[in-house]
Amino acid sequence: MKRIRMAVVILDMILGLLLFCAFVWRNTDTDKIKTTSGSSIECEDGVEQKRIALTFDDGPHPYYTEQLLDGLKERGVVVTFFVTGEHATLHPEIIKRMCEEGHVIGNHTYSHIQLCRDNREVFKKELQQTNQVLKELTGEDVVYVRPPYGAWDKELEKELNMIPVLWSVDPLDWCTENVQTVVSRVREKVKENSIILLHDYFDTSVTAALQIVDELLEEGYEFVTVEEMLFE
Ligand code: ZN
Repeated sequence: MKRIRMAVVILDMILGLLLFCAFVWRNTDTDKIKTTSGSSIECEDGVEQKRIALTFDDGPHPYYTEQLLDGLKERGVVVTFFVTGEHATLHPEIIKRMCEEGHVIGNHTYSHIQLCRDNREVFKKELQQTNQVLKELTGEDVVYVRPPYGAWDKELEKELNMIPVLWSVDPLDWCTENVQTVVSRVREKVKENSIILLHDYFDTSVTAALQIVDELLEEGYEFVTVEEMLFE
């Protein structure tokens, strides 16, 4: 009987030791998994949290917009363009290229008109006319509008079934010829979910925009269209 008891005790100890080893091994292994995939998950989370949208108003410009599109394509970055109907009519091939390359195109009125107390109907007609021009070129309905100077009437959202998109960072790129000034002004204010206002109508702005893209990509920012920012 004693021998049997001894054998049971020894077996118990062996079993206990095996269970202990298995526990230690499992935990060590889990730790390893945590450290390797944990950091990449953190990184992915970080990237997701730092989404920003570059937006370009007033184009397309016959030269600078193409230059910008080339640079964005090289970097695999998509943006949002708020074009005027007038410029879209002058450069239809650039509008088609924007659409083909995955950028979102929004409405910036036909002639860059500012909404005032006495021109609501003209303003509305300009938006409708521009929507028509853009739809003919891309085959897509225009959803987003950036009212020049930010002047807007909320009722128009229902009337036109459009969404106004303003901005959170304005480096006043149109009033400087210094690339570094534009880059610094954006970098000082940029944060998660920023909507940055630039103009693809100036050499300085386009050069600054591509530098901003390079620097902020390095810092883990992800560039998205306003559509992705609002709905995804
Ligand atoms: Zn404008």
